[in-house]
Amino acid sequence: MNRGTAIDVAYLIAAITFILALKGLSSPKRARHGTFVAAAGMVIAVGATFFVHDLGANHDEGLHNVPLMVLAMVLGTAIAVPMARFMKMTSMPQLIAIFNGVGGGAAALVSIGEFLLHRGDIHTLATYQVLEIVLGILIGAMSFSGSAIAYAKLQELMTGRPITYPGQQIINGLIFAGSLAIVVVLLVHPSMALVWVLLALSLIVGISFVLPIGGADVPVLISLLNSFTGLAVAASGFTLNSNVLIVAGTLVGASGILLTKLMSQAMGRSLPNIMFSAFGSAAAAGPAGSGEERPVRSGTPDDIAVLLAYARKVIIIPGYGLAVAQAQHIVRELAETLQARGVDVFFAIHPVAGRMPGHMNVLLAEANVPYGELKEMDEANPEMSTADVALVVGANDTVNPAAKTSPGSPIYGMPIINADEAQQIVFMKRSMRPGFAGIENELLYDPKTVLLFGDAKDSLAKLVTAIKQA
Ligand code: NDP
Repeated sequence: MNRGTAIDVAYLIAAITFILALKGLSSPKRARHGTFVAAAGMVIAVGATFFVHDLGANHDEGLHNVPLMVLAMVLGTAIAVPMARFMKMTSMPQLIAIFNGVGGGAAALVSIGEFLLHRGDIHTLATYQVLEIVLGILIGAMSFSGSAIAYAKLQELMTGRPITYPGQQIINGLIFAGSLAIVVVLLVHPSMALVWVLLALSLIVGISFVLPIGGADVPVLISLLNSFTGLAVAASGFTLNSNVLIVAGTLVGASGILLTKLMSQAMGRSLPNIMFSAFGSAAAAGPAGSGEERPVRSGTPDDIAVLLAYARKVIIIPGYGLAVAQAQHIVRELAETLQARGVDVFFAIHPVAGRMPGHMNVLLAEANVPYGELKEMDEANPEMSTADVALVVGANDTVNPAAKTSPGSPIYGMPIINADEAQQIVFMKRSMRPGFAGIENELLYDPKTVLLFGDAKDSLAKLVTAIKQA
C-alpha cells in the first residue's frame, strides 16, 4: 500500500469512528465511550495529515510550516484543556459556543488563505472553487462572530436580554441580502477587495442576528451555529481536497441541525420563533402577574421529610437549580435514603431542563444515579397521578402548567412534566423568582404545593438528615 492509500484508509477509519461516536453520544450509557471514540478518530485524522507532505509533483499540495502547525496545536491544547476541565457544568453552553466559534473562524481563515494563495491568478479559479471558498468565508465568519456574541451573553459579559431596535429584521435582512449579492458578484468577477468586504459583512451578519436573541434561547442558537460551523468546515474540506474534513463537517452540520430541531420541539416553539421573536425581551422577562404578594404554603425540612419518608412513590423532577446548587450527589443520597425505606423513587427528566440538552442526564450520571432510575418525560408523565409526592428540585418552567393552559404565555405549547397531577408537590427553590422564561408559575400557589425555600444542596442535606431520623 503506498503512502497516499494509507492516508486515505486512515481518513476512512477516522470518518467511521466519528459516525460510531455520534451513535454512542445518543445514549447516556454510552456517551462517555462515544467521546473517547471520537477523540481517537481525531488523533488518527490529525496524525495521518502530517504524512501528507511531499505527496504529488506539485509542491503547493504539500504540507508546509510544520513547526508553526505544531506550535498552534500546542497553544490550542494549552488553552482548551484547562478551560474544558475547570469550566463549571452550568457554563458548558458558553464553552461550546466559544469552541464552536473558533472552529467557524478557522474555516473562514482557511478560505481566506486559499484566496491569498491564488491572488495572482484569481481569475483562473473555476466557479465551483470560488463558491467553496466564499461559502467557507460567509458561513465560517458568521458562525465566529455569532458564537462570540452568544458566549458574551451567556458569560454575562453583556446583557442576556434581546437587544432590539425598530426595523431590526429589515436591516438584518438587507445586510444578509448584501452578503449574498457579494457572493454572486465574486462568482462572476473574483477579486481580493470584495473578499474583504464579504468577510466584514459576514461578521456583521453573525453579530446582528444574535443580538436580538434572548439568553433563554441562546443554547438553541449555539446548536444552530454549530451546524453552520460544520458546513463551513465541509466547504474548507472541498477547498483543501480533504475527504475527512468533508465527512466531519457534514456530520457536524447534520447533527447540529437535528439537535436544533429537537430542542425547538422540546420547547414547543418553531425555529423561526426562537430566532426572530426576541423572546425574553424586557416586556416578556418581568415576572407576570399584578405584582401583588400572594400567599404560598412553605414548609420546614422536618415537615417535608415526614411527607417523603411515609410516601409510597416519590418522583423527583430536577431542573436548572439542581445544576446551580451542584446538588446532584446529595439528591442521589436522598433517593437512596428513601429507597432504603421502601419508597418507590425515580427521576423524571424534561428534555430541556437545565441549560443544555441532556444537562440533567449528565449531572445525574456524574453522581452515579442508575440509568434505570431516569425516566424521560413521556415515560414519567403517565405515572405522575400515581405519585404521592412530586419533588421539584430547582425546576420551574418545565413543570409550569401555563404551558398547557395559558394560550398567551410565551411557553404555551411546550410539553411539560405534569407535576400538577401528583397528590402533593414540593418545590425546592430559593425565592419566588421565576425560571428562565421569566413568567410566574401558578403551581407555586396550588393548595397541593409546599415550598422549601433555600439552596437546593443545603435543603436536600437537611432533608436527608431529617428522613434518617424520621
Ligand atoms: P428554570 O430556569 O425554569 O428554573 C430554575 C429554577 O431553579 C428557578 O425557579 C430558580 O428559582 C431555581 N434555582 C436556581 N438556583 C437554585 C439553587 N441554588 N437552589 C435551588 N433552586 C435554585 O429551569 P427548568 O430546568 O425548569 O427549565 C429550563 C428552562 O431553560 C426552560 O425555559 C427551557 O426552555 C430553557 N432552555 C433550556 C435549554 C436546554 O437545552 N436545556 C436550552 C434553552 C433554553 P430561585 O431563583 O428562586 O432559586
